[in-house]
Amino acid sequence: MRSPHRVVAGVDMGATHIRFCLHNSEGELLFRSKQLTEAVIQRGICAGITGVLAPEIIRQEARCTGLVVGFPALVARDRRRVLSAPNLALGASSFLGLAGALEQTLGCPVAFSRDVNLQLRWDVAENHLEDQVVLGAYLGTGMGFAVWLNGGPWLGAHGAAGELGHIPLGDPQLTCTCGNPGCLETLCSGRALRQWYQQVPRQYALGELFLHATQEPEVRQMLLRGAQGIATAINLFDPDVVVLGGGVMDMAGFPRERLTALICRYVRKPLPGASVRFMAASSSAFNGARGAALLAAQLHG
Ligand SMILES: [Zn+2]
Repeated sequence: MRSPHRVVAGVDMGATHIRFCLHNSEGELLFRSKQLTEAVIQRGICAGITGVLAPEIIRQEARCTGLVVGFPALVARDRRRVLSAPNLALGASSFLGLAGALEQTLGCPVAFSRDVNLQLRWDVAENHLEDQVVLGAYLGTGMGFAVWLNGGPWLGAHGAAGELGHIPLGDPQLTCTCGNPGCLETLCSGRALRQWYQQVPRQYALGELFLHATQEPEVRQMLLRGAQGIATAINLFDPDVVVLGGGVMDMAGFPRERLTALICRYVRKPLPGASVRFMAASSSAFNGARGAALLAAQLHG
């Protein structure tokens, strides 16, 4: 009987959808699946995740050597605890003991990650940036941001590094989802755009906002504040590359050139201004799960 080949698993759990993938030891995709989060976790998070992965690992006659699960949440530096998950219907306590339970069931090391670190891991791999300093700004429902430093995601002392969406560069009259006043996300996020769009009846769909409204003061303000936040991060980290992406930047007509020009206006000259390079993130919905599998390949039991 031949010995089972090795695979690693990545899971990207969002509020609505959960995505799974398996990579072989060369990082090639063997399996991927997108399902409704609510349906998968109906009989428990551990049972739901292993219920998708385990049969596929058996079908592939493989042995799983690592799993990384990403959440839109604050994940502790030990990568085994979810500290705060305001973007998920589940409270942070729902994840207590989950890493250990998954390890027992799958028989491999398991780690958690903040979801933007999964996306950045994928973008770093796709562009061969492993040994560089990379910032990822992902404008989606919130203002996602992640830092790639010293060959891995930079987690900070507690796991809370890189929360660019929560610097006080927003509207001081507004309270952020995190509870603080005036975070950048109150002006610069998909959530803020939707709220602005819904204030009055519009003649176009929300998804076509940038085809009709890029000159509106609120939209200009969103771009300006986003650019100022990203430029601040560039001045702090002096990165080689800044990856720009996320669902809002993927919308038709998004003024990417104007955003980049605004960022450049506020970046310190001559450096890092003259050296920083901008790249567009690739936007497949499976990038997060695949980034998780790439991180899982670095786990050691
Ligand atoms: Zn905040």
